[in-house]
Amino acid sequence: MPELTRFAPSPTGWLHLGHAYAALFAHEQAARGRFLIRLEDIDGTRARTEYEEAIFEDLAWLGLNWETPVRRQSDHFDDYRAALAKLEALDVLYPCFCTRREIQDEIARAGNAPQGPDGPLYPGICRNRSAAERAERIAAGETYALRLDVAKGTKLVCSELFWTDRGRGRFKAQPAVFGDVVLARKDTPASYHLAVVVDDALQGITLVTRGEDLLEATHLHRLLQELLVLPVPEWHHHRLITDETGKRLAKRDDARSLRSLRAARWTPERVRKALL
Ligand code: GLU
Repeated sequence: MPELTRFAPSPTGWLHLGHAYAALFAHEQAARGRFLIRLEDIDGTRARTEYEEAIFEDLAWLGLNWETPVRRQSDHFDDYRAALAKLEALDVLYPCFCTRREIQDEIARAGNAPQGPDGPLYPGICRNRSAAERAERIAAGETYALRLDVAKGTKLVCSELFWTDRGRGRFKAQPAVFGDVVLARKDTPASYHLAVVVDDALQGITLVTRGEDLLEATHLHRLLQELLVLPVPEWHHHRLITDETGKRLAKRDDARSLRSLRAARWTPERVRKALL
């Protein structure tokens, strides 16, 4: 079946060899289908136009072509708000007033906090506040994030959820891996998990390709899709490109940025060979 795939970089740094691998991988999976680029720029404090321009320049240099217009997440907060409203209507969200500090202190106090892929899970401080307290604090102007009550959401779904990775087979979803995740941040009415699920559905992505560092996130995304009644794509989590010490490349790793390699007269063919 011809696939619709996407490469979804955040314009918060120069693309490096790891991004080139991810982009080429997605492009290749769509060989007889369609390929999109999506700019994941909801983090307004870190996203920059110059990085955005560089993304297009680097990808064109690599020989990729994509459909336009390119979806830019920061243009679509209304879509994320609509999804939040749906979840709110299901009563699976709650306002979280906690500061980072309060969360850390509670985790230290309780000891033995359950760990998720990104560190200790949110200890649930705001999960059971009364409706009256929530209303009062909101009315008083306190800022808050919206968290997903994962246990409640999972219960609502009733049946077990499954998802398929093209390279690794079928998984039974474990939506609680990240605990009660933030779906709308205090400063941004969305989060990575919410935006990616909404966008993949709105754009009709049939095969979500991304690095294996995001494999765990798929467990949660599967639950969000079910709660929001969205179509379920397939996934293909691919390997990550590492440096010679085995460490995965990071945005600050400027020496392996595609710009530096271009400046050092690498050709697109050489990049492709280096990624084999
Ligand atoms: N924006 C994410 C990243 O730069 C990719 C998200 C995804 O492909 O789901 O890692």
